[in-house]
Amino acid sequence: MARNMDSLVKVHGGGGYDSDFSDDEGQGETSQLKRKRDDEILRKPFQKGRHTKLAHRDVAAHEYDREEARNRRHHLISMNAYERHKKFVSDYILYYGGKAEDLRRSTANDKSDLDVVRENHRFLWRDEDEEQMTWEKELAKKYYDKLFKEYCIADLSRYKENKFGFRWRIEKEVVSGKGQFVCGNKRCEVEEGLKSWEVNFAYVERGEKRNALVKLRLCPECSFKLNCHHKRKEVLAIKKNTEVDGG
Ligand SMILES: [Zn+2]
Repeated sequence: MARNMDSLVKVHGGGGYDSDFSDDEGQGETSQLKRKRDDEILRKPFQKGRHTKLAHRDVAAHEYDREEARNRRHHLISMNAYERHKKFVSDYILYYGGKAEDLRRSTANDKSDLDVVRENHRFLWRDEDEEQMTWEKELAKKYYDKLFKEYCIADLSRYKENKFGFRWRIEKEVVSGKGQFVCGNKRCEVEEGLKSWEVNFAYVERGEKRNALVKLRLCPECSFKLNCHHKRKEVLAIKKNTEVDGG
């Protein structure tokens, strides 16, 4: 780079762009190589290169990708949380398979725990998925991974006895936004006035008992049920980007 600058300075000093460099600054590189590089630096936008190609294809592709990524990032910022959610999960489906119908919110699937266990293996990523990650693919995966361990679904039917059941969401629920944009009580479909509550979720993973603090998004009525016996900790949105996941 420094040497290129030298060349530029020299050309400007010489008062002309149509330069024919001598080999005096070659310092080990062939004059042909150097001339090629200098040509690229000095070429005017409307000129065709001496070697016909304007820029190396990789350079052009890289620039294009960067520009695209910038545009997409800008586009994402202008979306609301649910629009962004829809975009990320449709990207996810596009890159990792699944059905677009899953995007629709459905009330017709009360699953048994066995169904849940059976379906959850689909959350595991295969090694080949890690290869050939694009910016968009990576973002969709990150969003998806985060979502799955962030929200849970609750069974509040025995709240009067102070008994609550929690489980992870199934893939369909993650995609449709159940428990995130729709109340996380498994028997409730309210979408308005949701609040996030922190719950200590005990679960079993690979035969081991584990605990995790996860969020439960509930409508006002279901929030009352959850907090009937003792008040849970409300999770308030602090950072602006928590809006991204609706919590
Ligand atoms: Zn509810």
